[in-house]
Amino acid sequence: MKFVDLHAQYLTIQEEIDAAIAVVIAESSFVRGRHVANFETAFAEHIGVPHCVSCANGTDALYIAMKSLGLEPGDEVLTTAHSWISTSETITQAGGTPVFCDTETDYFCLDPHQLESKITPRTRGIIPVHLYGQPADMEAILQIARQHNLWVIEDCAQAHLASYQDQSVGTMGDAATFSFYPGKNLGAMGDAGCLVTHRNDVAEFAALFAHHGGKHQHLMEGINSRLDGLQAAILNVKLKYLSDWTKSRRRIADSYDRQLSRIPGITIPPRRPGCEHVFHLYVIQTERRDCLRDHLRQREIPTAINYPCPLPLVPAYAYRNGQPADFPTAVHHAQRVLSLPLYPEMSPVDVERVATAIESFQQVTATAG
Ligand SMILES: *Cc1c(COP(=O)(O)O)cnc(C)c1O
Repeated sequence: MKFVDLHAQYLTIQEEIDAAIAVVIAESSFVRGRHVANFETAFAEHIGVPHCVSCANGTDALYIAMKSLGLEPGDEVLTTAHSWISTSETITQAGGTPVFCDTETDYFCLDPHQLESKITPRTRGIIPVHLYGQPADMEAILQIARQHNLWVIEDCAQAHLASYQDQSVGTMGDAATFSFYPGKNLGAMGDAGCLVTHRNDVAEFAALFAHHGGKHQHLMEGINSRLDGLQAAILNVKLKYLSDWTKSRRRIADSYDRQLSRIPGITIPPRRPGCEHVFHLYVIQTERRDCLRDHLRQREIPTAINYPCPLPLVPAYAYRNGQPADFPTAVHHAQRVLSLPLYPEMSPVDVERVATAIESFQQVTATAG
């Protein structure tokens, strides 16, 4: 069994992918060009925003978004303690300082109640992450942002097509960023990313900044962060299937829920009411996480820990002197989370095998007392 089987997905659309790649090669349309433009238009439409600016990866998208919103040295940006480091490292790269907030007990996302006490005169924005595919509490976050005149960048790297009270993620903030890393819900065959926005000024700046500040008439210094033609052509094919793949993910999650909810000691992933969770990851919680992981490994069931250490406590942020007691919920989750295999092509037999193996672990430990 695989944790994510990218090849299984390729096999379902092999002819279309191979043909799309052949067209790009025949046209030598390797950088920018019509495939990139087509993808930007199609993805913006899919999300329901006027602008999509493609770039090299989801990390660059965050950096470009912050530069486009005018982040300046010394500015502070509030973000979650529980994410992949792209979310916070780009704040530093853009000249700012990441200020971490603890997470919600139920949903693993940034806890809006933590925001106000951390706002200072230098605070410029908030980056919530729709973690594992579950939307953050956007209503509360946007309300605080409005009160304090802060921008919001939604990190949607794990949440393509998720929705919050019938609004697609990526449409609610000043800008939103997506990753098309191969293992993400919409994945290229290499690195790729984009930002989307309803703000003309942000889209205009981002498009220039990602391409050296403009061609020849450089209006500013920028960077070189491009989506290439091959990846764009591949994404154009895959985008058509994203909605079906998302349904499959949700179906598999429902099936896991049914089989795991009756096992004592296992907490299934809670779902925020009024939201569509798109299950980039299916993350259970359990007290004896590391032993369960070994048990599954022995049965050739791969799992992952997303993430083993809250961001404010990793060595990169030692200089900020964060203490575990400052982030009790993130610390608690980091010790208990376990991501199970899940990808759209996963068979019901495999789902059942994972569930049965988890049940057998709980039985062994129950009898061992
Ligand atoms: C994957 C990911 C990113 C970065 O995307 P890349 O394309 O790998 O650079 C950013 N934020 C989160 C939450 C992610 O999961």
